[in-house]
Amino acid sequence: MRLARTIAAAAVLAATTCANAGTGPATISARARAVQAQAINLDTHLDTPGLFAQPGWKITDRHSYQTDGSQVDYPRMVEGGLDGGFWVIYTGQGTRDAAGNRQARDAGLRRLAEIREMVAANPDKFELATTADDAARIKAAGKKSVYISMENAYPLEQDPSLLRFYFKQGLRMLSLVHTSHNDFADSAGMGVAPAGEHGGLSAQGKALIAEANRLGILIDQSHASNAVFDQMLELSTAPIILSHSGAYDVFAHSRNIDDARIRALAAKGGVIQVNSLGGYLIDTGATPEYRAEMRKLWESMGNFDALTPEQRAQFRAQMEVLGAKYGIRKADFDDYMRHLLHIIEVAGWEHVGLGADWDGGGGVIGYEDITALPKVVQALLDAGYSDEQVQGILGGNVVRLLRQVQALADPQAVKAALE
Ligand SMILES: [Zn+2]
Repeated sequence: MRLARTIAAAAVLAATTCANAGTGPATISARARAVQAQAINLDTHLDTPGLFAQPGWKITDRHSYQTDGSQVDYPRMVEGGLDGGFWVIYTGQGTRDAAGNRQARDAGLRRLAEIREMVAANPDKFELATTADDAARIKAAGKKSVYISMENAYPLEQDPSLLRFYFKQGLRMLSLVHTSHNDFADSAGMGVAPAGEHGGLSAQGKALIAEANRLGILIDQSHASNAVFDQMLELSTAPIILSHSGAYDVFAHSRNIDDARIRALAAKGGVIQVNSLGGYLIDTGATPEYRAEMRKLWESMGNFDALTPEQRAQFRAQMEVLGAKYGIRKADFDDYMRHLLHIIEVAGWEHVGLGADWDGGGGVIGYEDITALPKVVQALLDAGYSDEQVQGILGGNVVRLLRQVQALADPQAVKAALE
């Protein structure tokens, strides 16, 4: 009996240890809760707008990652203590011709409208944020901040002067390029860095940087090549941001940034927000064969944004089967923290924040959706960071950066764009 009980207890312990391995703090302290309550908690890369036009999906409903794969909605933001962030106008890179550029222009404008419509439909829960001070004011009013950002400037290729229109509509952060080169800039690719097409920024890319500086729009380097990073740092009259990136010195992936560049970024006042996309955090063991099958699966899905929650769940199940077939490893909470803690050490805590890439491929075991945000707070406190430092990382640093970038804008250009 006694032996049986011991064996049972050992089995439970083993199971518990196994379940907790790599998944982060099991409990959240009162101190961590208090730190978060006083902080302005902002994530700088929320891809959730991709869900806004989904049949049957509503930001005010509570969803679950297990059911439909989504990671952010209003009830879960409340539970996780997220006060808002930068909501992304993402456009996948398509053909670089007149027809492709027009399609991208329309896709960008549609997504902008969808973000604004979400805010307009929920005035008691969300508010458009356009200045650094808005984040604290909106939190005090009991609402969530909606800053607007653009990932991939493809929608501007047809007409770069549209940037002023976007600015007037609330755009405050701009990335130039996604996973393949475009007319503005070279991409970092998706593992092995591709040969550059422009040697960094093109002439149009440089002009876009100058215009973003004039308007006080944050310039986002995530997804761009190292040469683009160097040139942005050199050309931009304001500090820049990496809205969702990881550490190359922790995992050598072309999407991550090396320590020397992290130091250069911080020296110029910039901020790096740490990404939680598993394939950028660890070597998952993905082979060319796996990637080819995965690409086929993606292509068979057609327009991902138009899928119903049921179709998305089915798609995720197929991805799981494929991952199991090839023995793909999954990153966990500890892998995420390894990048975050490394970057804090290299950059200094004032130059780091969170951009988990929720609803854009982010999330790892033990950090599946925004409700898990308090675990990061707890882990940072456990690592010895002070309340003030953690609050900076949770959002204070990016608010400071936005204030600085807006102060460096050209008041005439801002006034003209807002008229
Ligand atoms: Zn991205």
